[in-house]
Amino acid sequence: MDQGDGVNPDPRRSLPSVDKLTREVVRACPRLPEWAVVAACRSILRNARDEAELLVSRGADANAFAKFAETPWAVRVAARASELVSPHPKRVINATGVILHTNLGRAPIAAGAAQAAVDASVGYSNLELDLATGRRGHRLSAVAEKLCVLSGAPAATAVNNCAAAVLLTLDTLARGREVVVSRGELVEIGGSFRVPAIMERAGVKLVEVGTTNRTHPRDYAEAIGPDTALLLKVHRSNFEQTGFVTDVELAELVEIGREHGLPVLEDLGAGTLLDLGDRGVPRDVYAPGRIALGADVVCFSGDKLVGGPQAGIILGSEEKIAAIKRNPLARALRLDKMTLAALDWTLGRMLDGSAQADVPLLSMMLEGVPSLEARAQQLRERVAPLARAGVRVGIEKGHVPIGGGSLPGVEFESRALVVSGEGPEWSADEIMRRLRENDPPVLARVRDDAVCFDLRTLQAEDVEAVACALENALR
Ligand SMILES: *Cc1c(COP(=O)(O)O)cnc(C)c1O
Repeated sequence: MDQGDGVNPDPRRSLPSVDKLTREVVRACPRLPEWAVVAACRSILRNARDEAELLVSRGADANAFAKFAETPWAVRVAARASELVSPHPKRVINATGVILHTNLGRAPIAAGAAQAAVDASVGYSNLELDLATGRRGHRLSAVAEKLCVLSGAPAATAVNNCAAAVLLTLDTLARGREVVVSRGELVEIGGSFRVPAIMERAGVKLVEVGTTNRTHPRDYAEAIGPDTALLLKVHRSNFEQTGFVTDVELAELVEIGREHGLPVLEDLGAGTLLDLGDRGVPRDVYAPGRIALGADVVCFSGDKLVGGPQAGIILGSEEKIAAIKRNPLARALRLDKMTLAALDWTLGRMLDGSAQADVPLLSMMLEGVPSLEARAQQLRERVAPLARAGVRVGIEKGHVPIGGGSLPGVEFESRALVVSGEGPEWSADEIMRRLRENDPPVLARVRDDAVCFDLRTLQAEDVEAVACALENALR
């Protein structure tokens, strides 16, 4: 007999069985599919048993046990089951003003790029077939050719993402040998991409030179030895260094490389294929410019400033790109046909000059302030009826970063609709919570307990959806 029975009952015994709970939820919510209810029951009850064990081990009192026993398990299961059946990822509205929002999927691809992916994948495609000869073709040749025309690079290829591009390039050009990199560039990019960890995985020996804030040309020259295979430069994508800082420019690094017969790899991260220097985008991320400066290989992401699908673009000399393509790892890191089709479409618009109109990242980034102002006024007029006692609605000037761990210190002027309410019912956090529950969910930003809807990331068709979401949230 359990001595504690009745006095301190094991709280686990108060839990219903999976079968009983499933039946209860299926009866109460007949629209939820049974597979989701069963899976949700299992996971909720697993957590509940852990919770119960914790109560016992902490020596919690009868009150705590009674409270535990009263937990509305069925309600939790129904909520979890609805989460399970809702598609993921699904569309949300980005009103944060951050164009490359890592949590919101970085660059949205163009409708035309998405359609190209559908067309290439719903039926069969000529992915690896040359239609002119009827012989086997190469899946990457169209994208590679467009990349070469856009960038002036002698050769190009693309893989799954920029991390893969760096891994593959290091593995191809430096496996088992030394790679020299500045301590000021041993960065961690959000989402756990760490330069030293990638280098280790590629089997290269990292030779760090300089200090966090200062690296000089002689530091590289002194570190070069018989085992050196490559000089690496990494764009400091997500932070800025100011003050007592010295970096070795790419041109200088290329010169050092030439003197010692060593190739230079630059990991640009957020590289661009269009020169947006006069539009506030620093020229040091313009990939063709890096090739022109003599970098042997340049890598960057497809879904950052290129505004395309997730991909890792690699530009370089014919010899280096050929070696990279021959590496067996390239097969493991290759792009799928949907991504290839979307990337090919996006590069095509850059070549025919329509990218600024058709690629959402570029149209959002380059939209002029008068146009933002006009759209902000339009949204304000639309939601004007919501302004009442206790709720204020206005328009604010501000600046937004590009985001996504790219272009630190670069900001674009913007306009936001600002909504603030009085009292806990209309606190910014509460309004934000309600907006996330909207269909589609709306993500805004909070400043001084006011909710800001930034027009820079709101597409024309989003304005009405935001107004409806706000109406619901402020009901
Ligand atoms: C973002 C970034 C990466 C990683 O790119 P993914 O496409 O996410 O793999 C690598 N290097 C730099 C410098 C970056 O900014």
